[in-house]
Formats: sequence, structure tokens, C-alpha cells
Amino acid sequence: MTLTDGLVRWTWEQKCQKAVEALGTNGFTAVYCANRQEAVDYILKEAADTRTVGFGGSMSVTDLTVQAALAEQGKEILNHSTSGLSREERIEIMRRQLTCDLFLSGSNAVTMSGWLVNIDATGNRVAAMIFGPRKVIVVAGRNKLVDGGVPEAMRRVKEWATPPNARRLNFNTPCAKTGFCSDCNSPDRLCRATTVLDRRPRLTEFHVLIVNEELGF
Ligand code: SF4
Repeated sequence: MTLTDGLVRWTWEQKCQKAVEALGTNGFTAVYCANRQEAVDYILKEAADTRTVGFGGSMSVTDLTVQAALAEQGKEILNHSTSGLSREERIEIMRRQLTCDLFLSGSNAVTMSGWLVNIDATGNRVAAMIFGPRKVIVVAGRNKLVDGGVPEAMRRVKEWATPPNARRLNFNTPCAKTGFCSDCNSPDRLCRATTVLDRRPRLTEFHVLIVNEELGF
């Protein structure tokens, strides 16, 4: 690691730790992870007493490649992004995610004041983050941190998260073609359900892992 890399990493650690502290103040079980392996180890430990594990479609969680390890442990995997599923099968899995034992998700943005800001097209992911699963673990790379409030967080989502997501999912939106949000009114518009979790939802065991690496988008 170069001197520059080390200092950049240190700077990010201070920001990650500040977000962890704020999340803790807001009632979340917040944990700093120096790297993605620490996040994987944490998830596998927390999954020990669970039987069904739901995946919200997060690229951050995909980047951790934790699904195979959970399947090897005998967990029932509820991932609506699994290839080969019919539309009806996908929707049924999304419904079952709402009552799974452990729900794994990313967050489109995390403010330095410890708020989770997300924008969904269907709403299944944000719904499961709020109530239903016995335990929720959100994984957020340092690239999700926003030094500002809800407007800045929403700007981050529409600048950096939704355009690549629309492109990944082959949605016919302007941002999928240009990389820029035009606040479209497309039938395929992804931005339909915006949530702000400013405190832990009171009946959900909720963990947030802030990872000092770039994960997802
Ligand atoms: S409003 Fe439309 S163009 Fe803007 S980010 Fe959402 S889907 Fe893309």
C-alpha cells in the first residue's frame, strides 16, 4: 500500500466510524468493517440461528459473494434475482422475503447523521427493511456515505445508483441510456418508493455494516 493509499484509507475510516457512531445513536446495531471479509464473517455469524435468508437484490451484497456460503450451511435462499425464474415465481419469492429470518440488503445512501435513504421501483426491498424479517443486515460500502441530508442522499441515489441499476436491469429509462437522471415519467421509472430510516424500526433487529471499501453503486 502506498503512502497515499494508506492516508486515503485512514480518512475514509474516520468518516465510516463517524457514520457508525451516528447509526448507533439512532438505535441501529452499527459496525465498522475494515474490509469486505469482515462483513462476510459478520453475516455468517449472524446467520447461524436462521433458516431462511432473503436477498433484496443488492449489488453490495452480491459483491460479498456470501450466498453460496449460506446455501452450503443449509439455509433456504430467497433470491428473486435467480436466473430462470418466471415473473410469478419472482413475485412469490419477494413476498416470502417479507417474512424471512434474515434479510440482506444494501442501502442506496447513508447520511453522516445515521439515516438510511433508499429509492425502490417495486418497494419489496424497502418494505422488508422496515418490518417483517426477524433480522435485517444492511451492508454499505464507504461510497454510500453522504455528507448532507435527505436531498443530498436522494441526489446521490439518482446520480450514482439508479442509472447503473436501470442499465443492469434493462429498464427503458433515460438514465439507462445517458447516465443522468432527468426526473422521467417513463413507464419503466425506477424511482417510485423513497424511504428514510432515521431510527431503527422498533420491532426489527437491525444491523448496519459500514465497510471501508467500495461496494455496489
Ligand atoms: S427518475 Fe427516471 S431518469 Fe431519474 S433516476 Fe429515476 S428512473 Fe432514472
